[in-house]
Amino acid sequence: MEPDRRRSARVDPGSGRSGGVLFDAVLLDRDGTLIEDVPYNGDPEKVRPVPGARAALDRLRAAGLRLAVVTNQSGLARGYFTAGQMARVHARVEELLGPFDAWLVCPHDDEAGCRCRKPAPGLLHAAAAGLGTTAARCVMVGDIGRDMTAALAAGASGILVPTPVTRGEEVAAAPGTAATLTAAVDEILRRQRAVVPAAPRTAGTVLVVRSDSAGDVLVTGPGIRAVAAHAERVVLLCGPRGRAAADLLPGVDEIVEWPLEWIDPDAGPVDPERTRRLVDRLAATGADEAVVFTSFHQSPLPLALLLRMAGLRRVSAISDDFPGSLLDVRHRVPVGVPEPERALSLAAAAGYALPAHDQPRLRLRPDAVPPPPPGLDRPGYVVVHPGSSASARACPPEVAAGIVRVLAGAGYRVVVTGGPDERGLTARVAAAGGLDLGGHTGLTELAGIVARAGALVVGNTGPAHLAAALGVPVVSLFAPTVPFGQWGPYRVPTVRLGDADAPCRDTRAVACPVPGHPCLAGLDPGAVLDAVRLLGVPTGRPDAPDAGPYGVVRPHAGGSAVPAGGRGSGR
Ligand SMILES: [Zn+2]
Repeated sequence: MEPDRRRSARVDPGSGRSGGVLFDAVLLDRDGTLIEDVPYNGDPEKVRPVPGARAALDRLRAAGLRLAVVTNQSGLARGYFTAGQMARVHARVEELLGPFDAWLVCPHDDEAGCRCRKPAPGLLHAAAAGLGTTAARCVMVGDIGRDMTAALAAGASGILVPTPVTRGEEVAAAPGTAATLTAAVDEILRRQRAVVPAAPRTAGTVLVVRSDSAGDVLVTGPGIRAVAAHAERVVLLCGPRGRAAADLLPGVDEIVEWPLEWIDPDAGPVDPERTRRLVDRLAATGADEAVVFTSFHQSPLPLALLLRMAGLRRVSAISDDFPGSLLDVRHRVPVGVPEPERALSLAAAAGYALPAHDQPRLRLRPDAVPPPPPGLDRPGYVVVHPGSSASARACPPEVAAGIVRVLAGAGYRVVVTGGPDERGLTARVAAAGGLDLGGHTGLTELAGIVARAGALVVGNTGPAHLAAALGVPVVSLFAPTVPFGQWGPYRVPTVRLGDADAPCRDTRAVACPVPGHPCLAGLDPGAVLDAVRLLGVPTGRPDAPDAGPYGVVRPHAGGSAVPAGGRGSGR
């Protein structure tokens, strides 16, 4: 057994982490988040904390989380106040709110094209490094879209606390929101606690379950690894559509592939004889307990009944429905929690924590990722994956072609990928200037291609989670049919594009219910180029036009990597 799959039972969960399993640090915007926004303030007497700020920050400090202020102060570049005045303002902030472990200030204005001014991610990376951690282990709290764009582009988590000046589209696009700074802190601490077991345990053979498609299986990976770290053996029950992803997951010793009629969208009728065979198969795994992972709209109870019939003694699952005696651990999760954390919280409720040496991010078995196909030896290309398992979440072909054209025109090498049934689509899209690999890529081959990409441009579909698992930045063309904070690429640098407030929002539609598919049809391909640049992806082609510094500020229809500045606050 390769090291990646070896059990590391009886570890001390959380040891070696200063804050907790999920986060080491909280990065806070200054104006409008910690203190009232007084434009270009150089006067310490005008510092007014937002209500409850001191108590909220003290709770984060008590929980072992490090704190940094991450703030744009273009008033320095514009000469509205001096560095000395700013230092006095910051001294006053600490007098009122207590000490911060770091202060990160961008003194530039938009014209400078620096890498630190939010929405660029540079300041967040600097803050994380200064605190001895990485951006992925930080959560950013801010009051405008720039803060959230910077958080996502850095691979950090983000919580938006809107003020009266926060735009509606910024609220709609945020990965998470809270009404007040205090509520944001409540949420951070709740998420930290949710993935730590109250009663840690070890186990023999555990059956873990995640039916549904590839993306669903990939986002459950951290939860499965948490169980695997404390079990002698893990058997994964998955459906046919998730099988390829299951083969890529670390921590799984055996896979049972079986469609479940209460989960699969194209389910056939229940066949009593086949169901009896499933009960026998479940019993034959030798598992004495099961952890049943589901999406919020799926019920674990039909399977729990079959698990009882198969003789499993302990069953854990998330269920709002009354489970009677079907569940030993009935766990409940608020809506909107990122799917990987939802899975980790169920594992924790069942008694299993991710060990300290493992990060709460998506991962694949390194040995399962093949080399890229011939012709893609040089890494750094941009992959455009136009299709989706659900048409409501796919980018219209003409928009995808426009994206390929713009990226190729800017000097990027573009590769277009798609499944066997998407050859027509990828041929059409790649004709705009990309290499067509449509039909040549199952999930495993796609992993080999994405692993060496500079970025993946993709809708809300399985390959987005594949990129997250490979640590490859994602330009997410996200149809808002489900919450972005729950289903967006997890802990990987990401730019979210598409109209977050389109009428399909939260409909969970598989086919777009709105004429014209406006959430993605209105997307400006230029916004994807800006996004790739915001993510810092070089063209990798010496003869190509330079990608140029980040700093293009212009409005885009259908969402923008770069929210236009200028609300008079100077931030
Ligand atoms: Zn800067």
